Formats: sequence, structure tokens, C-alpha cells
Amino acid sequence: MRTVIDKANPNPAHKALSDLNIPVITMNIDGLHQRSGSRDEDVIEIHGNIQRVSCPKCKDSFHFSVTMKSILCPKCKKTVLEPQVVLYGDPIPRLGEALELIKHMDTLIIVGTSFYTSTAHYIKDAAESIGISVHTINEKAETVLPALLKELYKGEI
Ligand SMILES: [Zn+2]
Repeated sequence: MRTVIDKANPNPAHKALSDLNIPVITMNIDGLHQRSGSRDEDVIEIHGNIQRVSCPKCKDSFHFSVTMKSILCPKCKKTVLEPQVVLYGDPIPRLGEALELIKHMDTLIIVGTSFYTSTAHYIKDAAESIGISVHTINEKAETVLPALLKELYKGEI
């Protein structure tokens, strides 16, 4: 999976979001928002990031590259590192943070989800329940999202 992700590049939709410093809640684990220029503090990766591993004992986080030397934690040297991704059945530690973020928004733009996971539904329902305007883009996000942002930010960009 990392091989595929390493070959992927941010598209104009990622760039449009990073250019405007728009906070992002993503279920993707590819880190493309940060690679397009979004600040770490603007990206909530609710399913984690495949570029990171952590020690279940120390709770420290490391770049995946440390596993090229050893799969053991570089700090305690005895615990096997785990990928920092949420798998089916795992808790979603940053979901509360995502829900808190949307409380301060007036618009939620949902891009590229089939709503197959309950997480996407949950966030959309939470936004709608507090009167937030929700836009869903599932096709041609590379052109549709920048155009929508231009319309929403008219006069500002
Ligand atoms: Zn450790």
C-alpha cells in the first residue's frame, strides 16, 4: 500500500484546500493534504497516516522509515511498532476532534466518499443537525472543488 501511496501526488483539489488554509477532516491515510501544503494542524486524519508508526507501550510516534532498520521501537527497543492507521473495528481516536471542528464551521464540503463507512455518515449527520451547509462532491473533485471554493470565497480569492 505504501508503494502505491508513495507514487501518488496531490491533485488540484488538495492544492485548492491548502492554498486557502482550509481545515481538512480526512479518512485517507496517504498524507497528500500535507504534501500539497496543508499545515499539520489543519488536517485531522481520522483514520491515521500510513507514514507514521507508533509504539503501543511508549506511545511515541515515528516516521515509517524507522522500520527499515527494525520493527522494534527505537526508544524502548522491545515493543513491535504498529502502523498509525485505524483498521476496521478499531476505535477512531480523532473523531471527537473532527466533530468539535465542524461546530465552528458554516460549511462542510464532503469530497470523494461513497458513505460506505459509518464515520462519513456520522460527520455529515452531525453537521446537518446543527444547521451547517453540506456540499457533497463525488465526481471530478479536481475541478469541481476549486470552482466551489472560488464561489464560496468570491471576492476573497
Ligand atoms: Zn517503545
